[in-house]
Amino acid sequence: MRCVERWREVKAVCASYGARLVVVSKGATDEQIRALVEAGCEDFGENRPQRLRDRARLFPDASWHQIGQVQRNKAKYVAQYASWWHSAAEAEIAEEIGRRRKAPLPTLLQINTSGEPHRHGVGWDEAEEAAARLAETPGIKLVGLMGMAPLGVDPRPIFSRLRKLRDSLFGPRGELSMGMSADWRIALEEGATIVRVGSAIFAEDT
Ligand SMILES: *Cc1c(COP(=O)(O)O)cnc(C)c1O
Repeated sequence: MRCVERWREVKAVCASYGARLVVVSKGATDEQIRALVEAGCEDFGENRPQRLRDRARLFPDASWHQIGQVQRNKAKYVAQYASWWHSAAEAEIAEEIGRRRKAPLPTLLQINTSGEPHRHGVGWDEAEEAAARLAETPGIKLVGLMGMAPLGVDPRPIFSRLRKLRDSLFGPRGELSMGMSADWRIALEEGATIVRVGSAIFAEDT
C-alpha cells in the first residue's frame, strides 16, 4: 500500500531530526492501519476519543495519541486507552482523566496559537498558569506543549514562538508536538519533537 511507502519516507526524515512521528489515522481505514502496524508503525493519533478507543482495541500493541478536544463524558476513553494526550487545556477535563489513571498519562498543553475563541487550547498569556495547574494534577504527567499553525499564515514564526515558550516552561528537553501534513518539515526545522501527519500519508492510497 502507498501509505506504507509514504510513512517510511516521512519517518526517515523525522528520524534524522530525532523526532517522533504520530500517524494521524482519522481519515484512514482499518486495513491501512493494519498494513502500517505490520510494517512497524507504533504511534497513531485520533482526534475523537471513541474512535481512539475502538482502534486501540483493534490494535492494542500500538500507542494511541489523543490529539483532539475531549468532552467530559469521553474522558474515560482517553484515561483507559491513550498512551499520550496532546490536547490538554481545561483543568477540569485533566482532573477527570487523571483520576482514572493508574500510571500518569504523558500530556501536552495545547496552545491556541491564533487566539480565535472557537479554537481549542489556552492562550499564549495563559500558558504558564495552565501548565502549573496541570503539573500538579494527579494522574497527569505534563511533558510539553502542542500547537497548530492556523491555515493561510506562515507557520514558521508560530512554530518558533511555540519553541521559545516550550524552552521557558519545560527547558530544551521538553516535548513539542507541532507540524501536520502541510508544514511538518518546517516544524522539524523549528524544533518539533513530535509531528502529527495524516493526509500526506493516506491521501490517494490504493
Ligand atoms: C487531523 C489532525 C492532524 C493531521 O492533519 P493532516 O493535515 O491530515 O496531516 C494533526 N493534528 C490534529 C490535532 C488533527 O486534528
